Amino acid sequence: MNMKDRRIQKLAIANRGEVAVRIIHACRELGIRTVLLHSEVDQATRAWRLADERVCIGPAPSAESYLNIEACVRGALAGGADAVHPGFGFLSENAAFARAVIDAGLIWVGPPADAIEAAGDKISAKKLVADAQAPTVPGYMGEDQRIETLVEQAARIGFPVIVKAAAGGGGRGMKVIRSRSEAPDLIASAQREGQAAFGSPVVFLEKYLDRAKHIEVQVFGDFTGEVSYLMERECSVQRRHQKIIEEALSPSLTPELRRAMGEAAVRLAEKAKYESAGTVEFLLQDDKFYFLEMNTRLQVEHPVTEMVLGVDLVKAQILNAARAFQVWPQESLQARGHSIECRIYAEDAYAGGLPSTGLLVGTHWPEGPGRRFEVGVEAGDEVTPFYDPMIAKVIVWDESRLRAIRKMQSVLADSVVMGVETNIPFLREMLAHPEFTEGRMTTQFVGQHFPEGLAGADYLARRHNDLTRAFANAAKAQASRVAGEAMGGSDPTRSVWSTPWRLM
Ligand code: ADP
Repeated sequence: MNMKDRRIQKLAIANRGEVAVRIIHACRELGIRTVLLHSEVDQATRAWRLADERVCIGPAPSAESYLNIEACVRGALAGGADAVHPGFGFLSENAAFARAVIDAGLIWVGPPADAIEAAGDKISAKKLVADAQAPTVPGYMGEDQRIETLVEQAARIGFPVIVKAAAGGGGRGMKVIRSRSEAPDLIASAQREGQAAFGSPVVFLEKYLDRAKHIEVQVFGDFTGEVSYLMERECSVQRRHQKIIEEALSPSLTPELRRAMGEAAVRLAEKAKYESAGTVEFLLQDDKFYFLEMNTRLQVEHPVTEMVLGVDLVKAQILNAARAFQVWPQESLQARGHSIECRIYAEDAYAGGLPSTGLLVGTHWPEGPGRRFEVGVEAGDEVTPFYDPMIAKVIVWDESRLRAIRKMQSVLADSVVMGVETNIPFLREMLAHPEFTEGRMTTQFVGQHFPEGLAGADYLARRHNDLTRAFANAAKAQASRVAGEAMGGSDPTRSVWSTPWRLM
């Protein structure tokens, strides 16, 4: 295929929310038109408004829209796109989708389907990792899936052990087994969950590292086969195995360890003939690192890497797909300062993270130097129960880690989301915890210090939340009043700012 054939003029986005917005921004800057493939319920969202064109691909449930390969490919063709970006989540790590896109004559913005299969599947990746001479967590991934065998293997590995659904992901389908007596039940339930949620009952076992940090290396391969590593991110602050706060670089790596992990990640990517952006996840315990899995896509937390390295990973993905990109030479990649990302979830921090849905009546993201807001929703949008509750990401950069933490505290204090509850009060508590500020946190951090989120938090914090709710209610009332007065007014958003919420 010659260079001309690879020109991307219109790109279809098979995704929604803040990542769709992120991709739209990259395309605009590259002079590429966008067509958003969206579900019925995502008709009036920020990404929907920002995209140049839109094609509705099906009803709200993901299985009938964002996870429907045929609907996505048909939508891309109907929209006249010549390329497809899958974002993250949904079909982004689905080799069959990559193939379907290519078979339809479209350009796939991502790694080759074979590389997705080789590196993205949790079990086949471990074989690649052995070839790449990177250490893995001791475990069992045999074909014999009888409960007795699995219990025996767990005992051999030594408790605690973690059982994982081979087809699982997103922190789901995993259970920690602390003793032999609870092993049979937990293994059986992991198999059932694997079948129900991911269509496969196959599980595997790993030694559970209970003082580990989650450290992941960003890699990027270009179409000529050149691979570089873009340093690491630390994502130890997790709830139920899902990341909440991420940062670059990790406060826990020596330059030697950084290099060893980076080079191991590059070897793995090379073995998989990897192309485009990818992330190799490791656990780090007692200065030893162990391969966990490879994510063959853009990562939610990619902005912190962009902030410290001064790169644009999404543009790089698109340009690489267009065969117009050369990976940054390894020696040119030098990190500067520190970057932190907080994921903003629509949930009630005081009710154990219960999802919070409804009409967004107003948001305020306090702009300023070294601040970046990746926002999927705006006033007038509905936060529905159909999708992931992450509505935005707040990213900061500053010259040192402590300054970045301070900046994040101040940004979160001034951020306003009216209409749904958010985890912002919880984020602020975590950022203030000495284990976090000193950089000592492990993946146990949330479970140990905030087992119930903020459910047990003090009166003042609760009161703050009540006040925010009161503001939101007042703003809602005001919004509906003005909307009612306006001629056929269906836009409740315009009115919110006519009464500054701070003065209410
Ligand atoms: P997923 O694909 O669902 O994201 P991962 O295998 O990447 O699952 O693991 C997610 C998180 O689960 C890790 O960041 C870590 O906190 C925890 N975890 C997974 N495996 C282990 C292990 N062997 N020991 C300790 N923690 C683990």
